[in-house]
Amino acid sequence: MFKRDFMEPLVDEIKACRKCGLWRQRKNAVSGEGSLDAAVMLVGEAPGYWEDVKGQPFVGAAGKVLDELLSRAGISRSVVYVTNVVKCRPPENRDPRSSEIETCTPYLDRQIEIIKPKFIVTLGRHAASYILSKAGIETEGITKIHGGIYEANLLGFEVSVIPMYHPAAALYNVKYRDELDKDFQLLRLRLERHG
Ligand code: URA
Ligand code: SF4
Repeated sequence: MFKRDFMEPLVDEIKACRKCGLWRQRKNAVSGEGSLDAAVMLVGEAPGYWEDVKGQPFVGAAGKVLDELLSRAGISRSVVYVTNVVKCRPPENRDPRSSEIETCTPYLDRQIEIIKPKFIVTLGRHAASYILSKAGIETEGITKIHGGIYEANLLGFEVSVIPMYHPAAALYNVKYRDELDKDFQLLRLRLERHG
């Protein structure tokens, strides 16, 4: 069996999913995109307007920021797999509710199990708190922990978790852009060493 033999039915399941109320207002569920052999899995929060329209992750304003961060760090989007904690767009881009996160994250878990990345980069606090708490790691807030590396045992395998700010934060404040740039440069170095 190849990874795609597991991922393809999972994508179909996500596209047809009605397990939480978010299916009602979505145009498209956004499962994820990228290489199934990616060393790095990027986990955002939830689809926004354009992601919902196109059915692809990070293709709106935050996606443009993400593309720039990756390209400035010299990391090709083709060596990463990009997805979100929650697969359908919350109305008006509100925060996903904990019940929605709980209902949807078995999909993310299965994606992690299929891809088995070396690094999971969490983008924003929802992704950080889901992944780190699942690994049993207690941390401080994202301002303190971003750019750090947490060796985690997640779903039975070893993975390095790197929490970062959400790329949308860079749209409002250059301080976040600079921090994100530094953290992506570090990611590049870590990939060269271990990837
Ligand atoms: N913000 C996210 O968290 N995910 C996306 O896919 C787009 C914007
Ligand atoms: Fe299903 Fe997740 Fe969409 Fe809710 S957000 S309907 S659980 S795919």
